[in-house]
Amino acid sequence: MAINKTNHIVLRPKKEESLRRFHPWVFSGAVAQKPDNLREGDIVKVFSAGGEFLGTGHYQVGSITVRILSFTDEPIDTDFYVQRISSAYNMRTDIGLLRNNNNTFRLIHGEGDFLPGLIIDMYGKTAVVQAHSVGMDADKEKIASALQTVLGNEKLENIYYKSEGTLPFKADIESADGYLLGGKNVETTAIENGLKFNIDWLRGQKTGFFVDQRENRRLLEQYAAGKNVLNMFCYTGGFSVYALRGGAKAVQSVDSSSKAVMLTDENVKLNFGNDSRHTSYSEDAFKFLRESDKNTHDLIVLDPPAFAKHRGAVNNALQGYKRLNLAAFEKIQPGGILFTFSCSQVISKEQFRLAVFSAAAISGRKVRILHQLTQPADHPVNIYHPEGEYLKGLVLQVE
Ligand code: SAH
Repeated sequence: MAINKTNHIVLRPKKEESLRRFHPWVFSGAVAQKPDNLREGDIVKVFSAGGEFLGTGHYQVGSITVRILSFTDEPIDTDFYVQRISSAYNMRTDIGLLRNNNNTFRLIHGEGDFLPGLIIDMYGKTAVVQAHSVGMDADKEKIASALQTVLGNEKLENIYYKSEGTLPFKADIESADGYLLGGKNVETTAIENGLKFNIDWLRGQKTGFFVDQRENRRLLEQYAAGKNVLNMFCYTGGFSVYALRGGAKAVQSVDSSSKAVMLTDENVKLNFGNDSRHTSYSEDAFKFLRESDKNTHDLIVLDPPAFAKHRGAVNNALQGYKRLNLAAFEKIQPGGILFTFSCSQVISKEQFRLAVFSAAAISGRKVRILHQLTQPADHPVNIYHPEGEYLKGLVLQVE
């Protein structure tokens, strides 16, 4: 088929199968023809070699050429975003996410909410919007306006746009980080399951908080009574604050970033004042575990950053998980509970479990799996895009 439209992309023969199964990515190897003057972020329409329309999406430079926004030939305008955002919001209210004294949740989880490249986290009346593609960056005004239509003034006072760290580094666009709405007298304390957290979306990692551990933190709270807890990679102290509410005897929080340790201390204070049960350390987790005595902790949390950000790093990452978990198995008190996580998207549940299994075997301890954890419902997985399942956790009892 000859290309006579500026925004038409034609695939090679037989390369349309994954799109027919609603997988939302077109890889560069599948593309037969594209117009020369396409700019990253442009809206494109994708056709099979036989000329059949397949979908509409954002054009990208790199191994993923198109991220499909719609499998129909509809305009990608403010209305489109209103529909997608209201469907996402309705799902979250229908399943009761905003009950239980909770105003912190992920409103849009990229492909999981059929909006590849877009993340929106809600902290009370503030939405933090993060674009992971140039197309979503280009659409930010439409997204901001759609958010206001869906949520209204009552539920939305501020929109903070934060994409400097997430847009492709080679993209030639100026970062426009800042408020798209409001920005004056902003309430920065968010509530998760009745606990308060001060969220620093301006300077913090990601959108300022790891919303995805909400349910796993609550599970930890149920295990915490009377325990000596060690929370490794604490960041803003989520697991520490829940452990303290759960009646832990003592909680130690560790993070290599002194800023993170400060945030943890602040959040502990916000909920419990000066609580002598809590101590924090700005140290490397591996070093801390190596130097800590055996049998001092009977509840350990390991929630490291993604050790593998791309496929090439998988083997090293698996070694990293093995080493880290081995250190915990060697130190945890008999009868202790280990919460261990991986948030690396490129590492499967099976690979992670195998790394933890190898660590357990080397330590020689008896280990039972009590829970297998994952991401919560406000981080949904699009059934056609299994790559979206990224958070894996095991709760282990170690004898
Ligand atoms: N558990 C946290 C999220 C962890 S994010 C929560 O529930 O919110 C990962 C954290 O690991 C970051 O804060 C980062 O500063 C820290 N980190 C990275 N490498 C580290 C290392 N080698 N030792 C200790 N902390 C590290």
